[in-house]
Amino acid sequence: MARLKNFNAGPAALPLEALERAQRELLDYAGSGMSIMEHSHRGKEYEAVHDEAIRLLRELAGIPDAYDVLFQQGGASQQFATIPMSFLPAGKRADYVLTGVWGEKAVEEARGIGELRLAANTGKDGRYSRVPVQGELELDPGAAYVHMTTNETIGGVQFHYVPETTAPLVADMSSDFLWKPFDVTRYAFCYAGAQKNIGPSGLVVVIARKDFLETGRKDIPKIFQYRTHAKNNSLYNTPNTFGVYLVRNVLQWVKETGGLVSMERRNRQKADALYGILDKHAGFYVAPVERASRSTMNVVWTLGKPELEEVLLAEAKKAGMIGMKGHRSVGGLRASIYNAVSPEWVAALADFLDAFAKKHG
Ligand SMILES: *Cc1c(COP(=O)(O)O)cnc(C)c1O
Repeated sequence: MARLKNFNAGPAALPLEALERAQRELLDYAGSGMSIMEHSHRGKEYEAVHDEAIRLLRELAGIPDAYDVLFQQGGASQQFATIPMSFLPAGKRADYVLTGVWGEKAVEEARGIGELRLAANTGKDGRYSRVPVQGELELDPGAAYVHMTTNETIGGVQFHYVPETTAPLVADMSSDFLWKPFDVTRYAFCYAGAQKNIGPSGLVVVIARKDFLETGRKDIPKIFQYRTHAKNNSLYNTPNTFGVYLVRNVLQWVKETGGLVSMERRNRQKADALYGILDKHAGFYVAPVERASRSTMNVVWTLGKPELEEVLLAEAKKAGMIGMKGHRSVGGLRASIYNAVSPEWVAALADFLDAFAKKHG
């Protein structure tokens, strides 16, 4: 079997162990005579998987009882709308910290729903290449909430600190969720689409403080109120059962690999290896993100001779490495090196980039 070295931005690589387990269990889940997909979401087989996924999340991330863990559908993009629908009532204003394209989309949705203000915008001069430092954040202590994107997947820009805020902090963690241990109590509400770091698309994890969820508006449809899902353990309606099952498999793999401490070590080592090669050949390769804001998940770069980008992608493909074309909105190249991307794959990519620079530089 020739599995490709997959550097896709999302949907992205999944741990082989999690896929092999799904393969083994596909036709006959735990001796039940059918696949987990064919089980009722109210049955004991599925409920055990559902609860195990939540338990693993709580254990790996150290989530206290004061927080709910929810599974949602509609992607992180739907959260861009349901967050202001719930937490941005008339007469209040939210602060948005803008560091990239996903933040722009969150702002766009919120603008259609309520009042907001940009507490920072590092893209004012045309390109997002850094996160703001704490001192630059123009925060309104009376804001309904502060929204930030911990890692901007397209620009490759990542926060390496948690902003201090008086207002409740809301974070889109889609592309760096569980990349390292984190203190969830610094946030009132975090959310992540699963297809970057913890599973397949079509599933979003929400971790939110119970008392914050309770402040949500009650005059919107029940299905969009977080309390509805919290009250029903995310079983108000049929969840993405197979998605939750795969997340369970991925989280089990994270645990067996040593948990988030081990993930952080692996991820830092991978990012250092790639940025090391880009810096070694600076000029041939151009890494546009300021050092202190470089993403450990999405390594973005261009070539000094842009005409070589297509050559690089073609040669990489021949070497079994795919998924490195930059997002259509910004171009260039990008290697996404989420949890499931092995250090061996990244070492192979670093060697390839080194050789490519020597050959064409
Ligand atoms: C991918 C991504 C999204 C959008 O996720 P969908 O599941 O397509 O809605 C939002 N925010 C960030 C940071 C992302 O990386």
